Amino acid sequence: MGNVDVVQWMITGNCNYHCSHCYLGEDNRIEPDISRLLSDIEYFKNYGIKKVILTGGEPLIRKDLGQLLRALFDADIKVTGIITNGALITKELLGMLKDFGNDTTFSISYDGDETHDVVRCFKGAKEKTLAAFDLCRKEGFNTASDMTFYRGNAGNLRESIKTLEEHGCSSLKVSPLLMAGNAQKGKLLESLTPTEVLDAFCEYIPFYFVDKIKMKVFLSAYFYGDGQNGIWDIPVERFKMYVDDCDKAMCAKEEKVPFLYIDGRLLPCAGVAGYKEQREKMRKISDGGIEAAMKSPAYAGFMGYTLKEHARSNPDCKECEYLKTCMGGCRIIAGIEDFELHGKDRYFCTYFKNGYLGKVKAAVQLGKSLAALG
Ligand code: SF4
Ligand code: SF4
Repeated sequence: MGNVDVVQWMITGNCNYHCSHCYLGEDNRIEPDISRLLSDIEYFKNYGIKKVILTGGEPLIRKDLGQLLRALFDADIKVTGIITNGALITKELLGMLKDFGNDTTFSISYDGDETHDVVRCFKGAKEKTLAAFDLCRKEGFNTASDMTFYRGNAGNLRESIKTLEEHGCSSLKVSPLLMAGNAQKGKLLESLTPTEVLDAFCEYIPFYFVDKIKMKVFLSAYFYGDGQNGIWDIPVERFKMYVDDCDKAMCAKEEKVPFLYIDGRLLPCAGVAGYKEQREKMRKISDGGIEAAMKSPAYAGFMGYTLKEHARSNPDCKECEYLKTCMGGCRIIAGIEDFELHGKDRYFCTYFKNGYLGKVKAAVQLGKSLAALG
């Protein structure tokens, strides 16, 4: 029995959409055959994986999904999550998930009231997505969402959050557009600078309280609100707890879910899937199983990357007064934007060096005061 019990499993690179921000790009539209996936399940079983989160591409596009769900059921593995664009969710699918004993959370991406169809390059995508939220709610399935934040939808965040709340979504993560895959190639969407992203978040935060939003909202790592339980927090400030010891790994291992990429390579987290250079260093599970893949130099090196090592490799971070709070930021964001693992995370740099801790707190106070006035 290994020490992780959940894996994100990419069962196809195919999709019914061609979104302008898709991290996968158009070159990875391939689908492993069913025998490869059935052998993945054997590796899961041998290692002690008990839960999978299905992802793609669009995981619901597979014609043999029923066969896969049965095989997972037979292996006593639950489908705890499905990451989807929502268009292919049907009552039959939900019934099948229930029949196989799954209490699945659907993570349905939503890119803004005014912009969803533009981002998805499909007229009517918004309608389908919102209908999917409604159907899941009606059939008793939990839903969550992810939003890619860019210049087009930045001014519409308040309304989009209200829309998701109305459609029963329980949690939303808003992340800035990263220039990978189709976003990098097509350049159809314009990204915001880190300052613009953080300013837009600070502008929105008071409305989270004024609108009495119950849904959990993560504005990247800079604000977390849980209106249901009256809690708010600044996740980026939590990282401090990991760095009392500079020999400790920078990434929060406890929160990481390994990602089985479409070609059978095991990646340390979903973010690596969009980062070709790192991805291709990882090992396939067919080459000795899950444990061997985790012990491979690339995987273990990524997971074990320490603050000390980062400081040695990046002179700016070494000299930086925020190093022990910031930890150089997210390796994926630094890698994709700087094209190297030892780069700086420009968002964290902006946050720490421009007083955003105070700005986020002030935005929360303003929101609470306005909410108290009714
Ligand atoms: S972003 Fe998701 S829905 Fe859009 S093309 Fe890529 S895999 Fe499909
Ligand atoms: S704030 Fe910037 S320079 Fe300082 S440690 Fe973080 S990423 Fe490095």
